[in-house]
Amino acid sequence: MAPRRPLIAGNWKMIASSRHGLALAAELAARAKGAGAMKCDMLLCPPATLIRQVSEAVAGSGLAVGGQDCHAAPGGAHTGDVSAVLLAEAGCSFVIVGHSERRRDHDETSEMVRDKAAAARAAGLTPIICVGESEAERDAGETLAVVRSQLEGSLPEDAAGADTAIAYEPVWAIGTARTPTGAEIAEVHGHIRHRLAAVMGEEAQRTRILYGGSVTSGNASEILATAEVDGVLVGTASLEADAFWRIGESCP
Ligand code: PEP
Repeated sequence: MAPRRPLIAGNWKMIASSRHGLALAAELAARAKGAGAMKCDMLLCPPATLIRQVSEAVAGSGLAVGGQDCHAAPGGAHTGDVSAVLLAEAGCSFVIVGHSERRRDHDETSEMVRDKAAAARAAGLTPIICVGESEAERDAGETLAVVRSQLEGSLPEDAAGADTAIAYEPVWAIGTARTPTGAEIAEVHGHIRHRLAAVMGEEAQRTRILYGGSVTSGNASEILATAEVDGVLVGTASLEADAFWRIGESCP
């Protein structure tokens, strides 16, 4: 089976201005075009309003574009929501689902995340399904149980191999400048791979498992060299072109 190609994903969240986002996309596209063959796939996930413009800005650069969320339905009376179909039409090939900020701010359950991931796959997008424990759950020794429960609850029944990605994002590490140790990341990623194999067999070897939570250009090399880490999901550091680009260059 071919080795998994690292995926470096930038989650721009609710970036403060379109101007910042478009300048970021233009700078990264210029770097990607000048860089030649890359050792990883790089993905930008802007807010929904910027997706089409960012897709146009990065066309021909090899950079991919993704959404930050999608509705589980392909269309209908859901004011304020965006479907996976609309994301695909606007230029996305990926979508983040079940980010802890959405589980927190919108009371999203794993069942809802599973339906969104299924909708994403039906629309031809690769869902990046986020899982991760809170600090209290970690302190109580529940990390593996929480991650397993979120993973199994959020994974569509027919998810297989490369058409789905998982992001392990400990909630306490997001935006805090704190990260688990390499051994802790390896343990959780190994557990995720093991659970994926139980559900999808050999195909699990093709699923990329990303780490997310306070990744910077300073710690990316070490994290990306950790066992079972197939890329990173980056928030804060993805808002600065040089920092995000250097994370991409850190791929083994
Ligand atoms: C995130 O929001 O997915 C994230 C990982 O944020 P940060 O890199 O800022 O911790």
